[in-house]
Amino acid sequence: MSEAFLSGLLQLSSDAVSLCDAEMRVMRINRAFGNILGYEEGQLAGRPLLDLARTCNDPSLFVAISQALETAGRWEGELACTARNGSIYHADASLLRTESGVILLLKDLFRQGEDATLSGQHDPLTGLPNQYLLKDRLEQALAVARRGCHSVAVLIFGVDHFTRINDGLGHHIGDQVLMEVAQRLRGSIRRSDTVARFDGDRFVLLLSMRAANDTTRVLEKILKAVNMPMEIAGQTLAVTASIGVSIYPQDTDIGTGLMQRSNSAMLYAKKAGRNGFQFFSEEMNARARQQIGLENGLRRALADGQFVLFYQPKVELQSGRIVGAEALVRWQHPERGLVGPSEFIPVAEECGLIVELGDWVTAEACRQAAAWRRSGLPLLRVSVNMSAPQFRAGNLVESITERLSQYDLPGEALELEITESMLLGHEEPIRQRLSALRERGVYVSIDDFGTGYSSLAYLSRFPITTLKIDRSFVQDLAVNQSTAEIARAIIGLSRGLELEVVAEGVESAEHVAFLLENGCTTVQGFYYSQPVPAAAFEKLVRGGGYRALGERTTGAG
Ligand code: C2E
Ligand code: CA
Ligand code: CA
Repeated sequence: MSEAFLSGLLQLSSDAVSLCDAEMRVMRINRAFGNILGYEEGQLAGRPLLDLARTCNDPSLFVAISQALETAGRWEGELACTARNGSIYHADASLLRTESGVILLLKDLFRQGEDATLSGQHDPLTGLPNQYLLKDRLEQALAVARRGCHSVAVLIFGVDHFTRINDGLGHHIGDQVLMEVAQRLRGSIRRSDTVARFDGDRFVLLLSMRAANDTTRVLEKILKAVNMPMEIAGQTLAVTASIGVSIYPQDTDIGTGLMQRSNSAMLYAKKAGRNGFQFFSEEMNARARQQIGLENGLRRALADGQFVLFYQPKVELQSGRIVGAEALVRWQHPERGLVGPSEFIPVAEECGLIVELGDWVTAEACRQAAAWRRSGLPLLRVSVNMSAPQFRAGNLVESITERLSQYDLPGEALELEITESMLLGHEEPIRQRLSALRERGVYVSIDDFGTGYSSLAYLSRFPITTLKIDRSFVQDLAVNQSTAEIARAIIGLSRGLELEVVAEGVESAEHVAFLLENGCTTVQGFYYSQPVPAAAFEKLVRGGGYRALGERTTGAG
Protein backbone atom coordinates (compact mmCIF):
# COMPACT_ATOMS: atom_id res chain seq x y z
CA MET A 1 0.00 0.00 0.00
CA SER A 2 1.30 3.37 -0.93
CA GLU A 3 1.84 6.22 1.51
CA ALA A 4 -0.72 8.33 -0.38
CA PHE A 5 -3.32 5.59 -0.10
CA LEU A 6 -2.81 5.25 3.63
CA SER A 7 -2.92 8.96 4.09
CA GLY A 8 -6.21 9.16 2.17
CA LEU A 9 -7.68 6.37 4.28
CA LEU A 10 -6.65 8.16 7.40
CA GLN A 11 -8.26 11.41 6.35
CA LEU A 12 -11.52 9.72 5.31
CA SER A 13 -11.99 7.91 8.59
CA SER A 14 -14.68 9.41 10.78
CA ASP A 15 -12.88 8.13 13.88
CA ALA A 16 -10.24 10.35 15.36
CA VAL A 17 -6.77 8.99 14.63
CA SER A 18 -3.34 10.14 15.65
CA LEU A 19 -0.02 8.71 14.48
CA CYS A 20 2.84 8.94 16.93
CA ASP A 21 6.49 8.11 17.00
CA ALA A 22 7.99 5.41 19.19
CA GLU A 23 8.18 7.89 22.10
CA MET A 24 4.46 8.52 21.69
CA ARG A 25 4.92 12.04 20.44
CA VAL A 26 2.27 13.14 17.96
CA MET A 27 3.44 13.12 14.34
CA ARG A 28 0.09 13.49 12.56
CA ILE A 29 -3.61 13.70 13.31
CA ASN A 30 -6.44 13.09 10.87
CA ARG A 31 -9.22 15.49 9.99
CA ALA A 32 -11.75 13.91 12.36
CA PHE A 33 -9.33 14.24 15.26
CA GLY A 34 -8.77 17.90 14.45
CA ASN A 35 -12.45 18.65 13.94
CA ILE A 36 -13.75 17.01 17.08
CA LEU A 37 -11.06 18.07 19.51
CA GLY A 38 -10.44 21.46 17.90
CA TYR A 39 -6.73 21.08 17.15
CA GLU A 40 -4.95 21.99 13.97
CA GLU A 41 -2.49 19.54 12.54
CA GLY A 42 0.67 21.47 13.42
CA GLN A 43 -0.42 22.39 16.93
CA LEU A 44 0.10 18.97 18.37
CA ALA A 45 3.13 17.91 16.36
CA GLY A 46 5.90 16.76 18.66
CA ARG A 47 3.76 16.87 21.83
CA PRO A 48 3.48 13.78 24.01
CA LEU A 49 0.22 12.16 23.03
CA LEU A 50 -0.82 11.39 26.57
CA ASP A 51 -0.56 15.04 27.58
CA LEU A 52 -4.04 15.34 26.14
CA ALA A 53 -5.23 12.84 28.68
CA ARG A 54 -2.99 13.73 31.58
CA THR A 55 -5.33 15.76 33.75
CA CYS A 56 -8.60 13.95 33.20
CA ASN A 57 -7.77 10.29 33.83
CA ASP A 58 -6.69 8.30 36.81
CA PRO A 59 -2.87 8.24 36.84
CA SER A 60 -2.80 4.47 37.25
CA LEU A 61 -4.25 4.30 33.74
CA PHE A 62 -0.99 5.51 32.24
CA VAL A 63 0.93 2.79 34.00
CA ALA A 64 -1.53 0.23 32.64
CA ILE A 65 -1.27 1.66 29.12
CA SER A 66 2.50 1.65 28.99
CA GLN A 67 2.65 -1.86 30.43
CA ALA A 68 0.13 -3.16 27.91
CA LEU A 69 1.96 -1.55 24.99
CA GLU A 70 5.21 -2.98 26.26
CA THR A 71 3.98 -6.53 26.68
CA ALA A 72 1.02 -7.01 24.32
CA GLY A 73 1.69 -4.24 21.84
CA ARG A 74 -1.83 -2.84 22.24
CA TRP A 75 -4.28 -1.36 24.70
CA GLU A 76 -8.00 -0.79 24.54
CA GLY A 77 -10.23 1.00 26.96
CA GLU A 78 -12.02 4.20 27.87
CA LEU A 79 -9.89 7.31 27.74
CA ALA A 80 -10.78 10.93 28.46
CA CYS A 81 -9.07 13.66 26.43
CA THR A 82 -8.95 17.41 26.76
CA ALA A 83 -10.09 19.34 23.71
CA ARG A 84 -8.39 22.55 22.77
CA ASN A 85 -11.15 24.65 24.36
CA GLY A 86 -10.74 22.77 27.60
CA SER A 87 -13.83 20.59 27.43
CA ILE A 88 -13.35 16.95 28.17
CA TYR A 89 -14.27 14.14 25.78
CA HIS A 90 -14.66 10.48 26.57
CA ALA A 91 -13.97 7.87 23.94
CA ASP A 92 -13.38 4.20 23.32
CA ALA A 93 -9.68 4.23 22.61
CA SER A 94 -7.38 1.75 20.93
CA LEU A 95 -3.63 2.13 21.04
CA LEU A 96 -1.51 -0.04 18.81
CA ARG A 97 2.27 -0.30 18.76
CA THR A 98 3.70 -0.69 15.24
CA GLU A 99 7.23 -0.90 13.91
CA SER A 100 7.50 2.83 13.48
CA GLY A 101 5.51 4.08 16.42
CA VAL A 102 2.08 4.08 18.05
CA ILE A 103 -1.37 4.62 16.52
CA LEU A 104 -4.24 6.01 18.60
CA LEU A 105 -7.81 5.57 17.47
CA LEU A 106 -10.70 7.23 19.31
CA LYS A 107 -14.24 6.01 18.62
CA ASP A 108 -17.59 7.31 19.82
CA LEU A 109 -16.33 10.51 21.31
CA PHE A 110 -18.78 12.27 23.56
CA ARG A 111 -18.43 15.40 25.55
CA GLN A 112 -18.56 15.34 29.33
CA GLY A 113 -21.36 17.43 30.86
CA GLU A 114 -23.73 19.47 28.75
CA ASP A 115 -22.74 22.94 29.74
CA ALA A 116 -19.18 22.29 28.63
CA THR A 117 -20.40 23.63 25.29
CA LEU A 118 -19.76 27.08 26.71
CA SER A 119 -16.18 26.90 25.62
CA GLY A 120 -13.96 29.46 27.27
CA GLN A 121 -16.29 29.68 30.27
CA HIS A 122 -15.32 26.48 31.98
CA ASP A 123 -12.23 25.34 33.73
CA PRO A 124 -10.71 22.51 31.72
CA LEU A 125 -9.43 20.62 34.74
CA THR A 126 -12.56 20.46 36.87
CA GLY A 127 -15.25 21.25 34.32
CA LEU A 128 -16.58 23.93 36.71
CA PRO A 129 -17.47 27.45 35.58
CA ASN A 130 -14.33 29.58 35.41
CA GLN A 131 -13.98 33.10 36.76
CA TYR A 132 -15.51 34.70 33.66
CA LEU A 133 -18.69 32.69 33.90
CA LEU A 134 -18.61 33.18 37.67
CA LYS A 135 -18.86 36.91 37.16
CA ASP A 136 -22.14 36.45 35.26
CA ARG A 137 -23.47 34.01 37.79
CA LEU A 138 -22.67 36.38 40.63
CA GLU A 139 -24.50 39.26 38.94
CA GLN A 140 -27.45 36.97 38.25
CA ALA A 141 -27.56 35.71 41.81
CA LEU A 142 -27.47 39.27 43.14
CA ALA A 143 -30.25 40.34 40.76
CA VAL A 144 -32.47 37.45 41.84
CA ALA A 145 -31.75 38.16 45.50
CA ARG A 146 -32.53 41.84 45.05
CA ARG A 147 -35.93 40.99 43.59
CA GLY A 148 -36.69 38.29 46.15
CA CYS A 149 -35.31 40.29 49.08
CA HIS A 150 -33.10 37.51 50.29
CA SER A 151 -29.37 37.28 50.84
CA VAL A 152 -26.52 35.59 49.01
CA ALA A 153 -23.44 34.14 50.66
CA VAL A 154 -20.25 34.46 48.64
CA LEU A 155 -17.68 31.89 49.73
CA ILE A 156 -14.05 31.82 48.70
CA PHE A 157 -12.62 28.41 49.36
CA GLY A 158 -8.85 27.90 49.40
CA VAL A 159 -7.15 24.52 49.70
CA ASP A 160 -4.68 24.69 52.60
CA HIS A 161 -1.00 24.31 51.77
CA PHE A 162 -1.79 23.52 48.17
CA THR A 163 1.71 24.48 47.03
CA ARG A 164 3.03 21.88 49.42
CA ILE A 165 0.92 19.23 47.74
CA ASN A 166 1.84 20.46 44.28
CA ASP A 167 5.54 20.89 44.85
CA GLY A 168 5.90 17.99 47.21
CA LEU A 169 3.91 15.34 45.42
CA GLY A 170 3.90 16.69 41.88
CA HIS A 171 1.50 18.73 39.76
CA HIS A 172 -0.16 15.61 38.59
CA ILE A 173 -1.31 14.73 42.10
CA GLY A 174 -2.15 18.40 42.68
CA ASP A 175 -4.51 18.26 39.68
CA GLN A 176 -6.18 15.13 41.02
CA VAL A 177 -6.71 16.80 44.38
CA LEU A 178 -8.37 19.79 42.73
CA MET A 179 -10.65 17.55 40.70
CA GLU A 180 -11.67 15.63 43.79
CA VAL A 181 -12.23 18.87 45.73
CA ALA A 182 -14.40 20.17 42.87
CA GLN A 183 -16.57 17.08 43.01
CA ARG A 184 -16.97 17.23 46.76
CA LEU A 185 -17.91 20.90 46.62
CA ARG A 186 -20.47 20.20 43.92
CA GLY A 187 -21.91 17.43 46.08
CA SER A 188 -22.20 19.66 49.15
CA ILE A 189 -24.47 22.35 47.75
CA ARG A 190 -27.86 22.62 46.08
CA ARG A 191 -28.04 22.22 42.32
CA SER A 192 -29.31 25.77 41.98
CA ASP A 193 -26.23 27.20 43.71
CA THR A 194 -22.96 27.84 41.93
CA VAL A 195 -19.49 26.49 42.50
CA ALA A 196 -16.75 27.83 40.24
CA ARG A 197 -13.00 27.43 39.98
CA PHE A 198 -11.60 30.87 40.58
CA ASP A 199 -7.92 30.21 40.00
CA GLY A 200 -5.17 27.89 41.25
CA ASP A 201 -6.39 26.43 44.52
CA ARG A 202 -9.30 28.83 45.01
CA PHE A 203 -12.95 28.02 44.38
CA VAL A 204 -15.93 30.31 44.75
CA LEU A 205 -19.38 29.24 45.89
CA LEU A 206 -22.54 31.32 45.60
CA LEU A 207 -25.31 30.24 47.92
CA SER A 208 -28.64 31.92 47.83
CA MET A 209 -29.94 32.16 51.37
CA ARG A 210 -33.46 32.56 52.58
CA ALA A 211 -32.05 33.18 56.04
CA ALA A 212 -28.45 34.14 56.52
CA ASN A 213 -27.88 31.75 59.40
CA ASP A 214 -28.21 28.81 57.00
CA THR A 215 -24.67 29.50 55.96
CA THR A 216 -22.89 28.06 58.96
CA ARG A 217 -24.49 24.68 58.46
CA VAL A 218 -23.44 24.59 54.80
CA LEU A 219 -19.91 25.67 55.68
CA GLU A 220 -19.59 22.86 58.17
CA LYS A 221 -20.89 20.41 55.61
CA ILE A 222 -18.40 21.59 53.00
CA LEU A 223 -15.42 21.35 55.34
CA LYS A 224 -16.50 17.90 56.45
CA ALA A 225 -16.82 16.69 52.86
CA VAL A 226 -13.38 18.01 51.95
CA ASN A 227 -11.76 16.60 55.09
CA MET A 228 -12.66 13.01 54.22
CA PRO A 229 -9.43 11.19 53.29
CA MET A 230 -8.65 11.24 49.56
CA GLU A 231 -7.31 8.18 47.80
CA ILE A 232 -5.10 9.52 45.06
CA ALA A 233 -2.59 7.54 43.03
CA GLY A 234 -2.40 4.91 45.70
CA GLN A 235 -1.83 7.33 48.55
CA THR A 236 -4.20 8.59 51.19
CA LEU A 237 -4.15 12.36 51.49
CA ALA A 238 -5.71 14.51 54.16
CA VAL A 239 -6.83 17.78 52.64
CA THR A 240 -8.12 20.77 54.54
CA ALA A 241 -9.36 24.14 53.39
CA SER A 242 -10.05 27.63 54.60
CA ILE A 243 -13.19 29.50 53.65
CA GLY A 244 -13.95 33.19 53.74
CA VAL A 245 -17.56 34.38 53.61
CA SER A 246 -19.24 37.66 52.86
CA ILE A 247 -22.98 38.22 52.65
CA TYR A 248 -25.08 40.25 50.25
CA PRO A 249 -26.45 42.73 51.09
CA GLN A 250 -25.23 43.12 54.65
CA ASP A 251 -21.50 43.43 53.86
CA THR A 252 -21.96 45.24 50.56
CA ASP A 253 -24.28 45.02 47.56
CA ILE A 254 -21.49 45.12 44.95
CA GLY A 255 -20.17 41.92 43.37
CA THR A 256 -16.49 42.80 43.31
CA GLY A 257 -16.72 44.14 46.85
CA LEU A 258 -18.16 40.84 48.03
CA MET A 259 -15.35 38.92 46.38
CA GLN A 260 -12.72 41.12 48.00
CA ARG A 261 -14.31 40.79 51.40
CA SER A 262 -14.59 37.02 51.11
CA ASN A 263 -10.97 36.84 50.13
CA SER A 264 -9.84 38.90 53.13
CA ALA A 265 -11.95 36.63 55.31
CA MET A 266 -10.33 33.56 53.77
CA LEU A 267 -6.82 34.87 54.43
CA TYR A 268 -7.98 35.50 57.96
CA ALA A 269 -9.19 31.91 58.26
CA LYS A 270 -5.78 30.72 57.07
CA LYS A 271 -4.03 32.85 59.66
CA ALA A 272 -6.35 31.56 62.34
CA GLY A 273 -4.89 28.10 61.81
CA ARG A 274 -6.61 26.91 58.63
CA ASN A 275 -9.24 24.18 58.23
CA GLY A 276 -12.04 26.57 59.16
CA PHE A 277 -14.17 29.44 58.01
CA GLN A 278 -14.44 33.12 58.77
CA PHE A 279 -17.18 35.62 58.11
CA PHE A 280 -16.04 38.99 56.88
CA SER A 281 -15.88 41.84 59.37
CA GLU A 282 -14.92 45.47 58.93
CA GLU A 283 -11.94 44.89 61.17
CA MET A 284 -10.48 42.61 58.50
CA ASN A 285 -10.37 45.44 56.00
CA ALA A 286 -8.23 47.37 58.38
CA ARG A 287 -5.99 44.35 58.78
CA ALA A 288 -5.65 43.89 55.04
CA ARG A 289 -4.41 47.46 54.78
CA GLN A 290 -2.01 46.78 57.60
CA GLN A 291 -0.67 43.75 55.75
CA ILE A 292 0.13 45.82 52.70
CA GLY A 293 1.88 48.32 54.94
CA LEU A 294 3.93 45.48 56.42
CA GLU A 295 5.01 44.26 52.99
CA ASN A 296 6.20 47.68 52.00
CA GLY A 297 7.94 48.03 55.33
CA LEU A 298 9.79 44.75 54.79
CA ARG A 299 11.03 45.86 51.38
CA ARG A 300 12.36 49.04 52.89
CA ALA A 301 13.89 47.15 55.81
CA LEU A 302 15.88 44.95 53.43
CA ALA A 303 17.09 47.93 51.46
CA ASP A 304 17.96 49.95 54.57
CA GLY A 305 19.58 47.14 56.55
CA GLN A 306 17.08 47.06 59.41
CA PHE A 307 17.40 43.32 60.05
CA VAL A 308 19.66 41.91 62.74
CA LEU A 309 20.53 38.40 63.85
CA PHE A 310 20.27 37.23 67.43
CA TYR A 311 22.06 34.08 68.52
CA GLN A 312 20.82 31.39 70.87
CA PRO A 313 23.44 29.02 72.29
CA LYS A 314 23.32 25.29 71.75
CA VAL A 315 24.75 23.66 74.83
CA GLU A 316 26.39 20.28 75.22
CA LEU A 317 24.55 18.82 78.23
CA GLN A 318 27.35 16.80 79.79
CA SER A 319 30.04 19.45 79.66
CA GLY A 320 28.00 22.65 79.65
CA ARG A 321 30.05 23.89 76.72
CA ILE A 322 28.49 26.11 74.07
CA VAL A 323 28.95 24.17 70.83
CA GLY A 324 26.95 26.27 68.44
CA ALA A 325 24.36 28.95 67.91
CA GLU A 326 21.08 29.26 66.11
CA ALA A 327 20.83 32.54 64.24
CA LEU A 328 17.35 34.04 64.59
CA VAL A 329 16.36 37.09 62.63
CA ARG A 330 14.78 40.21 64.14
CA TRP A 331 13.58 43.41 62.57
CA GLN A 332 14.96 46.55 64.18
CA HIS A 333 11.95 48.67 63.27
CA PRO A 334 12.58 52.44 63.33
CA GLU A 335 9.33 53.12 65.22
CA ARG A 336 8.19 49.85 66.69
CA GLY A 337 11.52 48.63 68.03
CA LEU A 338 12.50 44.99 67.86
CA VAL A 339 9.97 42.89 65.91
CA GLY A 340 10.05 39.08 66.14
CA PRO A 341 10.16 36.77 63.13
CA SER A 342 6.73 35.21 63.57
CA GLU A 343 5.29 38.62 62.74
CA PHE A 344 7.12 39.10 59.45
CA ILE A 345 8.46 35.75 58.15
CA PRO A 346 4.98 34.57 57.05
CA VAL A 347 4.43 37.91 55.28
CA ALA A 348 7.84 37.71 53.62
CA GLU A 349 6.94 34.19 52.47
CA GLU A 350 3.63 35.36 51.06
CA CYS A 351 5.04 38.27 49.12
CA GLY A 352 8.16 36.51 47.85
CA LEU A 353 10.70 38.54 49.83
CA ILE A 354 11.74 35.52 51.83
CA VAL A 355 14.42 34.32 49.41
CA GLU A 356 16.21 37.64 49.52
CA LEU A 357 15.82 37.87 53.28
CA GLY A 358 17.04 34.29 53.68
CA ASP A 359 20.11 35.03 51.62
CA TRP A 360 20.83 38.03 53.79
CA VAL A 361 20.52 35.86 56.92
CA THR A 362 22.94 33.27 55.52
CA ALA A 363 25.45 35.91 54.51
CA GLU A 364 25.26 37.70 57.84
CA ALA A 365 25.57 34.45 59.82
CA CYS A 366 28.63 33.51 57.75
CA ARG A 367 30.16 36.94 58.23
CA GLN A 368 29.64 36.72 62.00
CA ALA A 369 30.93 33.16 62.25
CA ALA A 370 34.07 34.16 60.34
CA ALA A 371 34.60 37.20 62.57
CA TRP A 372 34.29 35.02 65.69
CA ARG A 373 36.83 32.57 64.27
CA ARG A 374 39.27 35.33 63.52
CA SER A 375 38.95 36.73 67.03
CA GLY A 376 39.92 33.37 68.46
CA LEU A 377 36.56 32.26 69.80
CA PRO A 378 36.27 28.46 70.11
CA LEU A 379 35.06 26.92 66.86
CA LEU A 380 31.32 27.11 66.78
CA ARG A 381 28.76 26.05 64.26
CA VAL A 382 26.10 28.61 63.40
CA SER A 383 22.76 27.39 62.11
CA VAL A 384 20.30 29.32 59.97
CA ASN A 385 16.64 28.59 59.33
CA MET A 386 15.65 27.86 55.75
CA SER A 387 12.24 28.66 54.38
CA ALA A 388 10.74 26.38 51.74
CA PRO A 389 11.15 28.70 48.73
CA GLN A 390 14.74 29.34 49.70
CA PHE A 391 15.50 25.64 50.06
CA ARG A 392 13.86 24.90 46.72
CA ALA A 393 15.60 27.72 44.83
CA GLY A 394 17.64 26.24 41.98
CA ASN A 395 20.87 27.95 43.02
CA LEU A 396 20.82 27.04 46.72
CA VAL A 397 24.02 24.98 46.69
CA GLU A 398 25.88 27.58 44.64
CA SER A 399 24.75 30.49 46.78
CA ILE A 400 25.73 28.70 50.00
CA THR A 401 29.08 27.72 48.51
CA GLU A 402 29.63 31.28 47.42
CA ARG A 403 28.87 32.67 50.87
CA LEU A 404 31.24 30.19 52.50
CA SER A 405 34.09 31.12 50.21
CA GLN A 406 33.31 34.83 50.42
CA TYR A 407 33.95 34.65 54.18
CA ASP A 408 36.58 31.95 53.91
CA LEU A 409 34.63 29.55 56.10
CA PRO A 410 34.74 25.75 56.10
CA GLY A 411 31.37 24.09 55.50
CA GLU A 412 31.43 22.66 59.06
CA ALA A 413 30.89 26.16 60.38
CA LEU A 414 27.40 26.31 58.91
CA GLU A 415 24.22 24.34 59.53
CA LEU A 416 20.93 24.64 57.67
CA GLU A 417 17.73 23.99 59.60
CA ILE A 418 15.03 22.64 57.33
CA THR A 419 11.64 21.12 58.12
CA GLU A 420 10.29 17.69 57.32
CA SER A 421 7.87 18.96 54.69
CA MET A 422 10.72 20.37 52.63
CA LEU A 423 11.91 16.81 52.01
CA LEU A 424 8.61 15.67 50.54
CA GLY A 425 8.34 14.77 46.87
CA HIS A 426 11.00 14.97 44.13
CA GLU A 427 13.20 12.78 46.26
CA GLU A 428 16.18 12.44 43.94
CA PRO A 429 16.87 16.14 43.30
CA ILE A 430 16.50 16.86 47.02
CA ARG A 431 18.88 14.05 47.88
CA GLN A 432 21.43 15.36 45.39
CA ARG A 433 21.12 18.84 46.80
CA LEU A 434 21.66 17.60 50.35
CA SER A 435 24.58 15.44 49.25
CA ALA A 436 26.22 18.41 47.56
CA LEU A 437 25.86 20.41 50.77
CA ARG A 438 27.25 17.55 52.83
CA GLU A 439 30.22 17.20 50.46
CA ARG A 440 31.03 20.79 51.27
CA GLY A 441 30.86 19.93 54.96
CA VAL A 442 27.63 21.85 55.67
CA TYR A 443 25.43 20.33 58.40
CA VAL A 444 21.71 19.86 57.83
CA SER A 445 19.20 19.46 60.63
CA ILE A 446 15.51 18.69 60.68
CA ASP A 447 13.83 21.45 62.67
CA ASP A 448 10.65 21.01 64.70
CA PHE A 449 11.09 17.28 64.35
CA GLY A 450 8.03 15.23 65.12
CA THR A 451 5.47 17.84 64.19
CA GLY A 452 5.40 17.34 60.43
CA TYR A 453 4.72 14.46 58.10
CA SER A 454 5.95 11.69 60.29
CA SER A 455 7.23 9.48 57.52
CA LEU A 456 10.35 8.18 59.14
CA ALA A 457 11.48 6.31 56.06
CA TYR A 458 13.13 9.36 54.59
CA LEU A 459 15.46 9.80 57.51
CA SER A 460 17.70 7.00 56.37
CA ARG A 461 17.52 8.03 52.73
CA PHE A 462 18.63 11.64 53.08
CA PRO A 463 22.09 12.66 54.22
CA ILE A 464 21.04 14.72 57.19
CA THR A 465 23.11 15.22 60.32
CA THR A 466 20.82 16.35 63.10
CA LEU A 467 17.31 16.09 64.53
CA LYS A 468 15.89 18.95 66.56
CA ILE A 469 13.18 17.76 68.92
CA ASP A 470 10.37 20.27 68.68
CA ARG A 471 9.92 22.41 71.75
CA SER A 472 6.28 21.34 72.16
CA PHE A 473 7.51 17.87 73.15
CA VAL A 474 10.07 19.22 75.56
CA GLN A 475 7.62 21.58 77.21
CA ASP A 476 5.03 18.90 77.85
CA LEU A 477 7.51 16.40 79.24
CA ALA A 478 6.56 16.77 82.84
CA VAL A 479 2.79 16.78 82.40
CA ASN A 480 2.22 14.41 79.53
CA GLN A 481 3.40 10.85 79.64
CA SER A 482 3.01 10.19 75.90
CA THR A 483 4.98 13.32 75.05
CA ALA A 484 7.81 12.03 77.16
CA GLU A 485 7.60 8.78 75.21
CA ILE A 486 7.86 10.66 71.92
CA ALA A 487 10.89 12.61 73.09
CA ARG A 488 12.50 9.38 74.23
CA ALA A 489 11.70 7.73 70.91
CA ILE A 490 13.25 10.58 68.92
CA ILE A 491 16.41 10.39 70.97
CA GLY A 492 16.55 6.63 70.41
CA LEU A 493 15.90 7.04 66.72
CA SER A 494 18.69 9.54 66.28
CA ARG A 495 21.06 7.21 68.11
CA GLY A 496 20.11 4.33 65.85
CA LEU A 497 20.68 6.42 62.77
CA GLU A 498 23.81 8.00 64.22
CA LEU A 499 22.42 11.50 64.03
CA GLU A 500 23.03 14.36 66.40
CA VAL A 501 20.00 15.28 68.49
CA VAL A 502 19.22 18.73 69.84
CA ALA A 503 16.28 19.40 72.15
CA GLU A 504 14.79 22.88 71.77
CA GLY A 505 12.72 24.88 74.22
CA VAL A 506 14.50 23.64 77.33
CA GLU A 507 13.17 25.86 80.09
CA SER A 508 13.67 24.09 83.39
CA ALA A 509 15.99 21.93 85.44
CA GLU A 510 13.36 19.22 85.09
CA HIS A 511 13.69 19.28 81.31
CA VAL A 512 17.44 19.10 81.61
CA ALA A 513 17.28 16.12 83.96
CA PHE A 514 14.91 14.20 81.73
CA LEU A 515 16.97 14.85 78.60
CA LEU A 516 20.21 13.96 80.27
CA GLU A 517 18.77 10.77 81.64
CA ASN A 518 17.48 9.78 78.23
CA GLY A 519 20.72 10.35 76.39
CA CYS A 520 20.09 13.65 74.63
CA THR A 521 23.44 15.30 73.95
CA THR A 522 22.67 18.89 73.05
CA VAL A 523 20.03 21.37 74.17
CA GLN A 524 18.84 24.87 73.46
CA GLY A 525 16.38 26.98 75.41
CA PHE A 526 15.58 29.78 77.79
CA TYR A 527 16.94 27.75 80.71
CA TYR A 528 20.38 28.58 79.37
CA SER A 529 19.77 31.69 77.34
CA GLN A 530 17.30 33.57 75.21
CA PRO A 531 18.49 34.48 71.72
CA VAL A 532 20.84 37.44 72.30
CA PRO A 533 22.74 39.97 70.14
CA ALA A 534 26.10 38.86 68.73
CA ALA A 535 28.16 40.75 71.30
CA ALA A 536 26.24 39.25 74.22
CA PHE A 537 26.57 35.79 72.71
CA GLU A 538 30.30 36.25 72.39
CA LYS A 539 30.43 37.14 76.09
CA LEU A 540 28.59 33.94 76.98
CA VAL A 541 31.14 31.89 75.08
CA ARG A 542 34.14 33.75 76.49
CA GLY A 543 32.67 33.25 79.97
CA GLY A 544 33.19 29.53 79.47
CA GLY A 545 29.62 28.51 78.75
CA TYR A 546 27.76 26.68 81.50
CA ARG A 547 28.67 24.31 84.23
CA ALA A 548 28.50 20.62 83.55
CA LEU A 549 25.29 18.63 83.99
CA GLY A 550 22.94 21.47 83.49
CA GLU A 551 23.87 23.84 86.30
CA ARG A 552 23.93 27.46 85.36
CA THR A 553 27.21 29.27 86.03
CA THR A 554 27.13 32.56 87.79
CA GLY A 555 29.57 34.09 85.35
CA ALA A 556 27.81 33.58 82.04
CA GLY A 557 24.08 33.27 82.79
P1 C2E B 1 12.39 28.00 65.40
O1 C2E B 1 13.32 27.68 64.30
O2 C2E B 1 11.71 26.85 66.06
O3 C2E B 1 13.25 28.86 66.42
C1 C2E B 1 13.22 28.72 67.78
C2 C2E B 1 12.27 29.69 68.40
O4 C2E B 1 12.01 29.25 69.73
C3 C2E B 1 12.86 31.10 68.55
O5 C2E B 1 11.80 32.02 68.42
C4 C2E B 1 13.34 31.09 69.99
O6 C2E B 1 13.39 32.36 70.56
C5 C2E B 1 12.29 30.25 70.65
N1 C2E B 1 12.80 29.61 71.84
C6 C2E B 1 14.07 29.24 72.11
N2 C2E B 1 14.16 28.69 73.32
C7 C2E B 1 12.92 28.70 73.84
C8 C2E B 1 12.37 28.26 75.08
O7 C2E B 1 13.04 27.73 75.94
N3 C2E B 1 11.04 28.42 75.25
C9 C2E B 1 10.26 29.00 74.31
N4 C2E B 1 8.94 29.15 74.55
N5 C2E B 1 10.73 29.41 73.12
C10 C2E B 1 12.05 29.27 72.90
P2 C2E B 1 11.90 33.19 67.39
O8 C2E B 1 13.27 33.75 67.37
O9 C2E B 1 10.76 34.10 67.69
O10 C2E B 1 11.69 32.46 66.01
C11 C2E B 1 10.44 31.92 65.68
C12 C2E B 1 10.51 31.20 64.36
O11 C2E B 1 10.78 32.10 63.30
C13 C2E B 1 11.65 30.20 64.28
O12 C2E B 1 11.26 29.03 64.92
C14 C2E B 1 11.83 30.05 62.80
O13 C2E B 1 10.87 29.14 62.27
C15 C2E B 1 11.48 31.44 62.28
N6 C2E B 1 12.73 32.15 61.98
C16 C2E B 1 13.54 32.83 62.80
N7 C2E B 1 14.60 33.35 62.13
C17 C2E B 1 14.45 32.96 60.84
C18 C2E B 1 15.22 33.16 59.63
O14 C2E B 1 16.29 33.76 59.62
N8 C2E B 1 14.72 32.61 58.49
C19 C2E B 1 13.57 31.88 58.48
N9 C2E B 1 13.16 31.36 57.32
N10 C2E B 1 12.84 31.68 59.59
C20 C2E B 1 13.27 32.20 60.75
CA1 CA C 1 15.08 26.61 63.94
CA1 CA D 1 12.42 24.75 65.95
